[in-house]
Amino acid sequence: MKKEFAVIGLGRFGGSICKELSKEGWDVLAIDLDPDKVNEFKDIASHAVIADTTDEKVLKELGIRNIDHVIVAIGDNIQSSILTTLMLKELGIKKITVKAQNDYHEKVLNKIGADHVVHPERDMGKRIAHSIISSNVLDYLELSDDHSVVEVKAGLKMSGNSLVDLDIRAKYGCNVVAIKRGREVIVSPMATEEIVDGDILIVIGADKDISRFEKNLV
Ligand code: ADP
Repeated sequence: MKKEFAVIGLGRFGGSICKELSKEGWDVLAIDLDPDKVNEFKDIASHAVIADTTDEKVLKELGIRNIDHVIVAIGDNIQSSILTTLMLKELGIKKITVKAQNDYHEKVLNKIGADHVVHPERDMGKRIAHSIISSNVLDYLELSDDHSVVEVKAGLKMSGNSLVDLDIRAKYGCNVVAIKRGREVIVSPMATEEIVDGDILIVIGADKDISRFEKNLV
């Protein structure tokens, strides 16, 4: 069965989600208070409607209950974002993703049962900071407050050595979970796997260990 999505708030973040989902062929109900925003999306989304989602009656009339996944991308108006999320939760929406504006907002959203809280500015800032520290860090994904996954380009210090030669697990407490080599991906590489120039390693571990690994080997 085809999944249906709704995006509430068509600013930069919500707008971009809406465009991408539509481009991928999904049904998207695009909602915003602002008629200009809705007009901008009328030819992009399957349906685009002007509505204030803090009004429960409006949400019911939109038939939001039948939607599988709702993305709340209301920006600065934290109160509207919380109220909308709370009502979606009460209406029994199966999956709710909400954009948080700050850490307090994130805490409240988690408390009221948002399934997935995203903090794009903060997360992107972290990712970019890591690639600024080392141009060999290609990507950085936070798993929890103190664990992450990094994607690093194998530097000169690594190539020609096997994972066991580099002793990454014992020395830095990190695990190489995969190696990307051109189009090939070696998942759970053996300790004897030799790293070649141009390899990209996917490394998982505690932030403090990853940081030591980045400083010494990347
Ligand atoms: P971004 O930082 O992603 O650009 P914005 O704050 O610019 O976010 O956009 C948020 C959007 O959410 C705006 O277009 C605004 O009109 C819309 N919005 C705010 N409150 C509501 C609401 N109660 N119901 C529907 N849309 C809303």
